[in-house]
Amino acid sequence: MNYALQTRNLVKKFGGFVATNDVSLNVEAGARHALIGPNGAGKTTLINLLTGFLEPTSGEVILNGTNVTQLAQHQRVKRGLARTFQINRLFADLTVLDSVTMAVNERLGLGARFWKPVASYAEAVDEAAHLLATLRLLDVAHEKTRNLAYGKQRLIEIALALAAKPSVLLLDEPAAGVPTSESRELFESIANLPRDVTILLIEHDMDLVFRFADQISVLVSGAVLTEGTPEFIANNPKVKEVYLGEAISV
Ligand code: ADP
Ligand code: MG
Repeated sequence: MNYALQTRNLVKKFGGFVATNDVSLNVEAGARHALIGPNGAGKTTLINLLTGFLEPTSGEVILNGTNVTQLAQHQRVKRGLARTFQINRLFADLTVLDSVTMAVNERLGLGARFWKPVASYAEAVDEAAHLLATLRLLDVAHEKTRNLAYGKQRLIEIALALAAKPSVLLLDEPAAGVPTSESRELFESIANLPRDVTILLIEHDMDLVFRFADQISVLVSGAVLTEGTPEFIANNPKVKEVYLGEAISV
């Protein structure tokens, strides 16, 4: 099996509290892998361990077959691991196309040259426009990012992450705070991303999870309770017990 991202016996303790409890996760290359579990299960902590924002108490993080446990965040990004960040102020006043073009320039090592308009790098503009098309954002290419609906802003954050040409994209509740009317479209755009990007997604909306994921891991109290296909998870009594009272349907 070809794994894009793995953890081996990952443990994170905060004082005496075990937030990540012996997690060995295998995310297949090209997968749409969802991480679910009740509030406080340790989902965000796990993402923070994967990116290098947090250091594990013990265990390993393996990216495309390489042990990256000792690597800093930016070194993991260079090796193909991307996560989304909220649009920073720098981008708020730029158009969508210029923002994404800047991020492409960054990857190409061109950086921002203040004496040169962003749009003068033709190749980067082409690549940025292609990314916007993939995410169905071309119609807002010339709008300022700050003027966009929240759901679209989240998509731009994803476009900025994708500009780094990652092999793995981590999404921690991308639809959080997005009105329901926009979240379906947001997820359709995410689902539309090319399969050469492996996606590990945290999402609490089960409807969205079951539409999107081909593999699901259920985290409870820091440990993996069970994992498998959406069908397996939906019919798993252990999972039903965890989500008692919440509707799970495929
Ligand atoms: P989830 O994302 O699944 O809701 P989190 O990973 O945010 O869960 O949190 C898991 C548990 O770890 C929670 O009980 C939380 O209070 C605790 N926790 C998270 N970060 C810290 C921290 N920096 N210090 C102490 N406890 C933390
Ligand atoms: Mg969380």
